[in-house]
Amino acid sequence: MRINGSYVNGFWVEGNEHRDNVSPSDTNDIIGSFARASTAVLDDAVAAARSALPAWSMTSPQTRANLLEAVAAAIMTDAEKLGQLLAREEGKTLREAIGEVTRAAQIFRFFSGEALRMRGERQPSTREGVYVNIHREPVGVVGIITPWNFPIAIPAWKSAPALAYGNTVVMKPAELVSASAHALAEIIDRVGFPPGVFNLVTGAGSVLGEAISSHSGIDAVTFTGSGTVGKQVAMSATARLAKVQLEMGGKNPLIVAADADLDIAVDCAIQGAFFSTGQRCTASSRLIIEDAVHDDFVERMLTRMATLRVGDALDADTDIGPVVDQRQLDTDLRYIGIARSTAGSVVHGGERVERKTPGFYLTPALIVGARNNDQVSREEVFGPVASVIKVSNYDEAVDVANDTPFGLVAGICTTSLAQAEDYQRRSDTGMVMVNLPTAGVDPHVPFGGRKSSSYGPHEQGTHAQEFFTQGKTAYVRP
Ligand code: NAD
Repeated sequence: MRINGSYVNGFWVEGNEHRDNVSPSDTNDIIGSFARASTAVLDDAVAAARSALPAWSMTSPQTRANLLEAVAAAIMTDAEKLGQLLAREEGKTLREAIGEVTRAAQIFRFFSGEALRMRGERQPSTREGVYVNIHREPVGVVGIITPWNFPIAIPAWKSAPALAYGNTVVMKPAELVSASAHALAEIIDRVGFPPGVFNLVTGAGSVLGEAISSHSGIDAVTFTGSGTVGKQVAMSATARLAKVQLEMGGKNPLIVAADADLDIAVDCAIQGAFFSTGQRCTASSRLIIEDAVHDDFVERMLTRMATLRVGDALDADTDIGPVVDQRQLDTDLRYIGIARSTAGSVVHGGERVERKTPGFYLTPALIVGARNNDQVSREEVFGPVASVIKVSNYDEAVDVANDTPFGLVAGICTTSLAQAEDYQRRSDTGMVMVNLPTAGVDPHVPFGGRKSSSYGPHEQGTHAQEFFTQGKTAYVRP
């Protein structure tokens, strides 16, 4: 089998070690063999990015815009093929996977425009005959570390702004999804970026991720993944005073108020909690329901859950694909087991099921009678598992929603404009959704959370500049 190498200074590097990736829908389906790069390969990638930086950071914005636009166009041309690969590799349904690929193209297109919109400021000085220019400049060589659950969208939303604003890149994707990152690197190679501007190293996070965080040749590190690893990345990066940005886990609440439209509320809860197999940092894992509508809501949820088909990611009838791997399945089942043995909780679903092919199939789990301080309501499961927490009124719902170490996103279903406005102010999160699922964001506006969900500037939209550029203030007496 061909080894898919790392991409360093415009060349593919196989190295000595590699790893086979299998499909979670069918563990007999081997997607490909991917290089496990050594730290020596990473050093080469960093050296290439450093030597490409001076020229790339001085290219005209139009050159950068054209290249990013070419990536967007190439992604769209291959959207079906890339979607198939992504669904096969990660396990989300083909519809979700093509949606994610389309999003990656939209992100490259948006940042193609941003390359041209990058602007500074000019102000009069307090001194006669002097003026002040405030420039935005690239931050340098950017290290990118990404998780497995959005195999092409997250690499896109970190690498597109990095490249648009004139930085060079060394990216390390999660090993479970090397194929999608590899496909993106092939496109970047094909459209003609200068060698060294974008580099991909595939392999173990504990080796390469740690080496990126602590590498003296990397000026800024942007990470998305778990809180535990995020903290290690921040410690290593800040120890050498590198800029760092972290997006981590969530335990996102969806409040269903007594006056909610329950059809909308159930749609939001089903989509937010269970689609993409619940493997989203923005998943609605705590459903906080006012007493007045609790029983009706639960009954409707169970009716809808009975219609959801769990199956092969590539099967057109599938609503929910498999869990990504055995390790994540074990985690999901462990939390479901804890919920089953918690007094007062009743777990509906959450069963391991067999399909035609050997895969990691699990039915969605709804934990009714959960409390906010139960283990399953406090820790991120990262699977199709949601707690239903009953509250007596709106104020209690807000308190419960905010009572968590996380602060990524929160939702409310209500027909009261006053309550919707009030919740936007009182929610202690980076993002709020009203009558919408907690998962599902736009690419042109800021994305990010608070508390232990995020650290550093938010991502996406024009706000991406905060992380991917640095300021310079110049005083001029002509
Ligand atoms: P993870 O933390 O295990 O891995 C993330 C990345 O870090 C991978 O590339 C991994 O190889 C690498 N890594 C592993 N050990 C490392 C180390 N010691 N130093 C540096 N890098 C290392 O996370 P995961 O399991 O891939 O992804 C799931 C997590 O990601 C969940 O917690 C989820 O909430 C979070 N996530 C957050 C967002 C967001 O935007 N907030 C989006 C998607 C996923």
